[in-house]
Amino acid sequence: MCSSFETEEFKALLQRPKTDGDTGQCKRCPNAGSILLRGYDSYCKDCFVVYVNHKFCSTIGKMRAVRHGDKVLIAFSGGISSSAMVHLVRESIERAGSQRRLVFQPTVFLILEKSVSSCYGSEEDCVSTAARFCQNYDLPFAWCHLDEYFNESPQFYTKVEDFQPSGRQAQLKELFKKVNSLTAKEDLLKRTRTELLIRVAKLMDHRKIFVGSNSSRIAADLLTFVAQGRGSQLPFEIGFSDTHDPDVTIIRPMREILQDEVEKYVEVKEIEVLEAFAQPEVMSRLSSIGTLTQDFLSSLQKDFPGTVPTVFRTGDKLTTAVKQDGEKCSFCKMPLDSTVIPPSSALQARLYSSALSTLGKSASQELIERFVVSKPEKDFSLIDCSHLCYGCSLTIKDCT
Ligand SMILES: [Zn+2]
Ligand SMILES: [Zn+2]
Repeated sequence: MCSSFETEEFKALLQRPKTDGDTGQCKRCPNAGSILLRGYDSYCKDCFVVYVNHKFCSTIGKMRAVRHGDKVLIAFSGGISSSAMVHLVRESIERAGSQRRLVFQPTVFLILEKSVSSCYGSEEDCVSTAARFCQNYDLPFAWCHLDEYFNESPQFYTKVEDFQPSGRQAQLKELFKKVNSLTAKEDLLKRTRTELLIRVAKLMDHRKIFVGSNSSRIAADLLTFVAQGRGSQLPFEIGFSDTHDPDVTIIRPMREILQDEVEKYVEVKEIEVLEAFAQPEVMSRLSSIGTLTQDFLSSLQKDFPGTVPTVFRTGDKLTTAVKQDGEKCSFCKMPLDSTVIPPSSALQARLYSSALSTLGKSASQELIERFVVSKPEKDFSLIDCSHLCYGCSLTIKDCT
């Protein structure tokens, strides 16, 4: 976190004069700048578009994760980050095609979550809006209901005319109704959505999935996942690629682009903002660990533009000691972090504290012997987390 690069960047930031809205000359060409990034970097519209496109393509190219002809599922949520991603995919394919470079085959894929979220449009509206949006960019489109999660072989559709209400909505609603906190609900939604995307990708013979997480989102996710006890999964959750599934790789091509850069890109390229997917602000921002962390980071980012890049770059340096080819969590399918728990670890302390509060003072001596004196590495019979990772065990515990 205190590397020389970040120190120099921080010093440079402090020494830059404030522009007070005057964007000056573009830093890439002699034209007048009209877009100000990080409070001091001025770009004209053309150079800004080149800058964002370059970030997107270099992120994919740098890691050599996508090969010529690869089928890629583009996870589309209807939000501005995934709308911008669809636009960037179209642009990169056109440019690559004209230069006879890497061309992959994308399919934009939408998961309908209306039954457990509260977007303005009906499910039918969302499907027709997303289909029209993809048609504008000449990209194939497919979709399915979130409750297909309960189906071993999820049913998906490629034609808007095939739309019909889902058959398992009650089962999905019942599951989410049991969840007590918004934090656990958001985690449950993320896990079911990811698992469903992977299963659909396999059915459609796509081995890669692009998700629209930008760097601001990833920085907030990093802090959120640590708070949710998913520290050992961070390289999968926030890295360039998530390879926890042996057959399908999740890729984050937007990870070098900040939220405000996405917003400006959408504005400059006049990308349609899809109202059907907008969500009313009904909950307080303090309602979940995720929304609270996002709020905290975005408010800090306004005055200190190095905040998100610093958190983001720190995340890139983190590795996990958990073996990727070992046992997997039965819910999120991430490598299991709770099979071997070292003594004096944070997880051991948390389990001890949880057991103590459940069993009361009378059991404290037994617990001390079990957790501290005997230094157990596998014996956690008091709390059965044998097939759930630590993060999932917290989420499941929050369901009544
Ligand atoms: Zn310029
Ligand atoms: Zn898990």
